Amino acid sequence: MTNRTFTMIKPDATSNGHTGAILAMINAAGFRIVAMKMTHLSREKAGDFYAVHRERPFYGELVEFMSRGPITAAILEKENAVEDFRKLIGATNPANAEEGTIRKKFATSLGENAIHGSDSNENAAIEGDFFFSKLEQF
Ligand code: ATP
Ligand code: MG
Repeated sequence: MTNRTFTMIKPDATSNGHTGAILAMINAAGFRIVAMKMTHLSREKAGDFYAVHRERPFYGELVEFMSRGPITAAILEKENAVEDFRKLIGATNPANAEEGTIRKKFATSLGENAIHGSDSNENAAIEGDFFFSKLEQF
């Protein structure tokens, strides 16, 4: 079944100049970009996006990091999009990420791990709608 996932190229990968290379890997893996924008999250917006982690010890650090500089947000379409995209990005901690994954190649650390990928179809839809109006989703 063709479906959609949501991604963000995080501030570390953006400032390190990896946006183009990451988008090329995403396209090469068979994902179609159906929405995309570069933006800079406020602390408040970054906190809202990761609100599910509010009680975790790393939440403050995560919000600081995600609002530190610009990100690229996108909605991606492919068969089995959510699961296949999580495989393409690799483990949360780049030290555990497999060869050939985006995090293995471009992540700096567990906290600064280059890219986000939705963890379910339901969250993909919520996260896509967080950034894009229906008119901006193609
Ligand atoms: P994401 O949701 O960004 O795709 P993920 O699903 O692989 O990442 P989550 O458990 O949802 O991992 O954590 C969200 C983000 O919080 C991680 O990507 C990472 O940037 C940060 N994070 C997670 N665990 C830690 C930790 N122990 N210390 C510091 N930062 C962490
Ligand atoms: Mg997550």
